[in-house]
Amino acid sequence: MQSDLKQLIDKLNTHKKLSLEEWTALFDNYTDEEREYAASIAREISKSVFSNKIYIRGIVEFSNICKNDCLYCGIRRSNTNAQRYRLTDDEILLCCDEGYEYGFRTFVLQSGEDSFFTTSKMAEIVRKIKSSHPDCAVTLSLGEKEYDELKELKEAGADRYLLRHETADKEHYEKLHPEQMSFEHRMKCLSDLLSLGFQTGAGMMIGSPYQTSRLLAKDMMFLCDLKPHMIGTGPFLPHKDTPFRDMEKGSYKLTLFVLSLCRIMLPRVLLPATTALGTIAPDGREQGVLAGANVIMPNLSPTAVRKKYMLYDGKICTEDSSQECRFCIQGRMKKIGYEVEITRGDYK
Ligand code: SAH
Repeated sequence: MQSDLKQLIDKLNTHKKLSLEEWTALFDNYTDEEREYAASIAREISKSVFSNKIYIRGIVEFSNICKNDCLYCGIRRSNTNAQRYRLTDDEILLCCDEGYEYGFRTFVLQSGEDSFFTTSKMAEIVRKIKSSHPDCAVTLSLGEKEYDELKELKEAGADRYLLRHETADKEHYEKLHPEQMSFEHRMKCLSDLLSLGFQTGAGMMIGSPYQTSRLLAKDMMFLCDLKPHMIGTGPFLPHKDTPFRDMEKGSYKLTLFVLSLCRIMLPRVLLPATTALGTIAPDGREQGVLAGANVIMPNLSPTAVRKKYMLYDGKICTEDSSQECRFCIQGRMKKIGYEVEITRGDYK
């Protein structure tokens, strides 16, 4: 006789949705047995959609200057210990050129909300990357923007946009963000991105302060309705210069379980094994892939600035070169029977 929880996982696999109570029961009561059961189903789904291929995206962290003050984030405005930097257009392009040589066909440009990079400046950078590398996808992760700004970036050639919703509950959102930020605006950005035709990524941290099983259940319900093309999710990790410095980090196993459940619910979703997952455990990204993830985002930022883009303490790969990160991932994937694919890796 299957455990009740395994039946819920089967039900998710068949119907692609669960009720709030069912999700909550899963998160409250799962053990290694159910987690491994979900991982084995998720892994089979990944294999059937993507074979044993892993998509890689090169991430260029081009500015850590941020006007926002998210309580969890190491590059929040109030952190006066952060050494701030901005890359020039040429430096950003050089990172992409280098990445192209190593086989990256997607570049992710991520930053704080830095008003120096106006929408027209960003559009120009996107056009330059697309003209040097017309066979590549450009993903932006710049925080919240207005509809017209997103439209301009789309028209400049940006293909994808990552904007984690962070939490699907307004009250919880307000505990993680300062008063100036609004849950409604973040949600509006996500719907704007989808209506503009971006391949869109949402997502949440696992174990963020004040998150409960029921709130995480709400995130799963939200993702089920939104049907994003990508889901970015990793454990919350505290940063010493934030108000959440003494909060407990998120659970590694729960992160793996959530990855599997995302894969089961949205079989074709692009699902990264994140850097935070690789930070919480030495083989976190491998275990993420074995739990159903199909994307890895190695760092393409210049080594000189990597330590300055510290969203949380202990972030991995801050001493390495882009080439080292790229081939490290290839070796790690090979060891577990997967291969890095040289492709844009669009949503199918
Ligand atoms: N400024 C952009 C990019 C933010 S950084 C934006 O607002 O979208 C990308 C992601 O890192 C965030 O969405 C958040 O979920 C994650 N992150 C930030 N601080 C973190 C922490 N302390 N632990 C784990 N993940 C964190």
